[in-house]
Amino acid sequence: MPTSSSALGLPSSSGSLDPDDWRAVRAEGHRMLDDILNYLEDIRERPVWQPAPDAVRERFRAPLPAEGSDLQDVHQSFMQDILPYAVGNAHPGFMGWVHGGGNVVGMLAEMLAAGLNANLGGRDHMPIEVEKQVLRWVIELFGFPKDASGLFLTGSSMANLIGVLIARTSALGDEVRRRGVARLSSGLVAYTSARAHGCIAQGMDLAGLGRDHLRAIPVDAKGRMNLASLAAAVAIDRAAGLTPFLVVGTAGTVDTGAIDDLHAIARLARRERMHFHVDGAFGAMAMLSPALAGRLRGIEFADSIAFDFHKWLQVPYDAGFIVVRDRELHLRTFATHEGTYLSRGDRGMSAGSPWPCDFGPDLSRGFRALKTWFTIKVHGAQRLGEMIAHTCELAQQLAQRIGESPELELLAPVSLNIVCFRFVGRYGAECKSEILDRLNRDLVVALQESGVVAPSSTVLDGRFAIRIALFNHRTTMQEIDALLGATLALGRSLSASSSAAETAGSTP
Ligand SMILES: *Cc1c(COP(=O)(O)O)cnc(C)c1O
Repeated sequence: MPTSSSALGLPSSSGSLDPDDWRAVRAEGHRMLDDILNYLEDIRERPVWQPAPDAVRERFRAPLPAEGSDLQDVHQSFMQDILPYAVGNAHPGFMGWVHGGGNVVGMLAEMLAAGLNANLGGRDHMPIEVEKQVLRWVIELFGFPKDASGLFLTGSSMANLIGVLIARTSALGDEVRRRGVARLSSGLVAYTSARAHGCIAQGMDLAGLGRDHLRAIPVDAKGRMNLASLAAAVAIDRAAGLTPFLVVGTAGTVDTGAIDDLHAIARLARRERMHFHVDGAFGAMAMLSPALAGRLRGIEFADSIAFDFHKWLQVPYDAGFIVVRDRELHLRTFATHEGTYLSRGDRGMSAGSPWPCDFGPDLSRGFRALKTWFTIKVHGAQRLGEMIAHTCELAQQLAQRIGESPELELLAPVSLNIVCFRFVGRYGAECKSEILDRLNRDLVVALQESGVVAPSSTVLDGRFAIRIALFNHRTTMQEIDALLGATLALGRSLSASSSAAETAGSTP
């Protein structure tokens, strides 16, 4: 037993986790900062993604360490075993899914926030004022009433769930929180586009209302919710004695970036007395671009909007947000007056009620507001809007290049920054779907494994599509060229080897 331990086995000196040698920690901290800044500065020299070798994964199956290690050694493990095998969304060649690239300013702010270690569940302190400042900017951006409420959450999955819960309160009153949905909710139905994100159905599920009570409304040729079908579905449900209570419009569908006609949905929702929620996970940030904001016309009439700062706005993960028109309704959905340990006062640290914990399910909450506040303050709204518009310009240029190539086929109109296409090569677009589906599925994996670019995929009208989502502020025409070059080269070689295999297979 070490001599420095007491009879209880505790260190005799102090229980503090602070370093004995601040100078050494400071020096190592500066090296850590340099390493991560170097990573970002030189990121173009790295592959976008590479799979982690088994030997590296194996090192993460070690038992709980009883003894500590040097900070320096753990930092080296990070550099060797973690950093090279990240998904690569900071890299300009990352074009898959809907991932933000992060930004240096936000990263530095996150470090400050971690040092401060603020808990934004409640109490009277300045970090909460920072969150309220961001809320006021959001209110200004969307043209919401000055007393609208809102808060940071992990992401839009959670923010959309909260939208569903607020709509549920609007339909059933806050009594539902006490008595449960079983007694009150029979017959509530919600509507969203067939292209809506899966978290809307999940929200219905978690709210106890059931996925079967979410109607998936067909979309038009541009991928927008068909308003005539929506009106018809509401009428059919009313005739069947059900209660339409919520319509969710999408501002930027995840597969093609289509924006529903929010203004028309707002009118229909008002006429039918339904809560109008917008899933603007990434698309809502297009409000920052004067060139794009007009596409979101009608968002100002929403009852609630869910969106992310961590996607198009490049705030480091995670930073989701919800803004709610009716602050009282929002409070009635979450506030409780239980728990004497959370009692409020007019003065002292328990002032400032209502607290953020009264507007959502989290009690302990991190300081997500700080990295967002820094990102917006340092870059300014105008530059952020231009950055967003630039990704849309790149998407238009990519679509144009696809149109010019006989070996490539565009599979959906490009409304924002998402381009869906496929390689058809010498087969041509008339080729049997299964052959092209298989070829393009292999091609997406080959592109990802090449380390040059990282697209994702989707299925549109039964056709497998290579999906390019341009969310990264670092992406330029250079990466678009690399994508096209690699797609043609790998596509040709895959189709050559598959037709060689076909020929070999057909020889007796
Ligand atoms: C990303 C996304 C979501 C989910 O948001 P998270 O932040 O990943 O939880 C919901 N809807 C749309 C349209 C999205 O793009």
